[in-house]
Amino acid sequence: MNESERARRIVAKFGGSSVADAASIKRVAARIVAAKQAGNEVVVVISAMGDTTDELMDLALQVSPQPQPRELDMLLTTGERQSAALLAMAMNDLGVEALSYTGSQAGVITTAQHGNARIIDITPGRIEKSLEEGYVVIVAGFQGVSQTTKDITTLGRGASDTTAVALAAALGADVCEIYTDVDGVYTADPNLCRTARKLDRITYDEMLELSSQGAKVLQIRSVEFAKKFNVPVRVRSTCS
Ligand code: ASP
Ligand code: MG
Repeated sequence: MNESERARRIVAKFGGSSVADAASIKRVAARIVAAKQAGNEVVVVISAMGDTTDELMDLALQVSPQPQPRELDMLLTTGERQSAALLAMAMNDLGVEALSYTGSQAGVITTAQHGNARIIDITPGRIEKSLEEGYVVIVAGFQGVSQTTKDITTLGRGASDTTAVALAAALGADVCEIYTDVDGVYTADPNLCRTARKLDRITYDEMLELSSQGAKVLQIRSVEFAKKFNVPVRVRSTCS
């Protein structure tokens, strides 16, 4: 079988700016439908809409000056759950069956540390079954469930990237596509530096270096994961 005949398995992550309102959720849905109809198996990892995570955090602090970490994680994870469900609705209206899952349902098993848990295992049985049945699977990023306490955890700010890369590794995906508001990785911040060049390719170590210098395009932990499991990561613009 040549490459074009083989069904490719894609994990695609869309950041908060890509799903900031209803219109953008519909645009993302249409893009995913196209990828599915091209014959790919598609798993989508989604962030919370726009500034939802910050807004939920503000709300928590208005209610309690020092919210309990367990309850904060219960609250913050609703952001991704909201966008996952909305995206599934939009996709179903376009005639492609989609199922949304929380991190816990998707089998993202973590340490117990609220607010900054680490992924220690992924048990993707449910995702595999849904893919086999022909569904597009939409996973709420940034969250999992603790192996020991069974409580819901979050993985640190920006961690939907890490959810995506970890799932791509666990599912043996051909590629992990990170859709964001920039169209790739640049030598410097393209918004600040006019001579910044877009890089066609970058090694894991170079990307780790850029992330540690503050490049926001990929969460550093996701790059460490990609390196460890040799996951091909592609940064793409939602706008193009
Ligand atoms: N919504 C979470 C955050 O804003 C996770 C993410 O965007 O990746 O940090
Ligand atoms: Mg976010």
